[in-house]
Amino acid sequence: MDLVASIRDAGVVGAGGAGFPTHVKASSRAEVLVANGAECEPLLVTDQWIAARHAREIAEAMRAVGTRVGARRLVFGVKAHYHHVIDAIRPHLDGDTPIELGCVGDFYPAGDEQVLVHEVTGRVVPEGGIPLDVGVVVNNVATLLNVRRAMDGVPVTRKDVTVAGLVAIPGVYDVPVGISAAEVIAAAGGMTDEAAAVIEGGPMMGMLRDDLSVPVTKTTGAYLVLPSDNPVVTVRRNPHATVFRRALAVCCQCRMCTDQCSRALLGHRIAPHLAMRALLAAGAQAVDGLDASGHRFAQPSGVEIPPKVRAMGYLCSQCGICEAWACPLGLSPRYVLGDFKAGMLAERLANPLRDRPDTALEAQAWIRVPKPRLVERLGLKGFLLPHEGVPVVVADPWEVRLNLKQHVGAPATPTVQVGQRVTVGQCVARIPDGALGACIHASMNGVVRAIDAVSIRIERTH
Ligand code: SF4
Ligand code: SF4
Repeated sequence: MDLVASIRDAGVVGAGGAGFPTHVKASSRAEVLVANGAECEPLLVTDQWIAARHAREIAEAMRAVGTRVGARRLVFGVKAHYHHVIDAIRPHLDGDTPIELGCVGDFYPAGDEQVLVHEVTGRVVPEGGIPLDVGVVVNNVATLLNVRRAMDGVPVTRKDVTVAGLVAIPGVYDVPVGISAAEVIAAAGGMTDEAAAVIEGGPMMGMLRDDLSVPVTKTTGAYLVLPSDNPVVTVRRNPHATVFRRALAVCCQCRMCTDQCSRALLGHRIAPHLAMRALLAAGAQAVDGLDASGHRFAQPSGVEIPPKVRAMGYLCSQCGICEAWACPLGLSPRYVLGDFKAGMLAERLANPLRDRPDTALEAQAWIRVPKPRLVERLGLKGFLLPHEGVPVVVADPWEVRLNLKQHVGAPATPTVQVGQRVTVGQCVARIPDGALGACIHASMNGVVRAIDAVSIRIERTH
């Protein structure tokens, strides 16, 4: 079967990010294929464990996808100090199409695909653009492993997830897609502090997860169980109005956030200090502009945020450097920019910032956030995991809940009925006709007990 069809039928999506359907990327044309093995979020080790254990399969998938997209260069992007990963991939570098090592330093966010593309190719992805705009396709190493499995007809039904922090047995867990967060944490021996908070994802970009019944998806990367007074938790617990009031009250316009912004350093026209200045100009009305839920900043009448400042929300990667690292006053420009973007999306306003810088700022080469310092700053040093190991396989739970939208695009359309028996690997939801999306497969044997607009619930029968 054609590679693209195999990837599509296996439901492969970007495992390390938003879940862009991989068959669409594999259908494109590109000069360079980059494997992203530069995992950079503090505490996360999933990609390192995967890359060290499955280097051969990842190399095979790189060659297959590289051939399909017409790539003349294959680059394995990895942190220079991930020696165990480099040792594992090195025997697989030579071949019909050689694979280059693209080693990067130990900084955050080296694994951001736009940063990685610049590091290993020297190309700058345009504002609001994607790597393909500069002839590069980037696939995370876990995604490439799923591609290799798809080549053997094996669909995506499981996910490797880092579980770290205040649990009895931290590590990487190989779990069925659709298992709940609570069961994954239980598999890790449970929380050792009942008052702890759970972050889904990394400490920089992850979200607070109060409802632990939410299922694992194909893009779930980690559950971090952290003390309730850890800064990663407290900054996310701040009421939204407080974030804005503090911004209004104390931002001194030092512009440290802009000078260290990972996207500004790539030459993009994002300046978080100007977003904060726009709030200052708007005054108290900016806080009044919070919508009824208190969540999002919809531009209220009488508040003029300059359009190009508001549009900076589209250029923000939400990397969190401005908030967790740069701002001496602990303010959250990224939150403000996130709200600007949400407001523009709600008003269906397109991004007017579409420049194509040829080069990054000179300072990009030396303004770096050292990951070890970041770990210290976030109070996470006591929770570090080993760089390599064998994931613990978690047995089938009593039930799984398969979200119909685990990817960029339209929700998948169920192909099964309530009461129907399904087997692991069976397609239970397909891509709607003509839409961008991904198939969903049963992650265990069982019976379909419920289907709604959001998910399919399968109950175990053995
Ligand atoms: S989160 Fe902050 S540092 Fe990161 S891209 Fe957005 S504005 Fe820049
Ligand atoms: S770093 Fe903080 S205080 Fe300085 S301009 Fe940015 S938000 Fe304001």
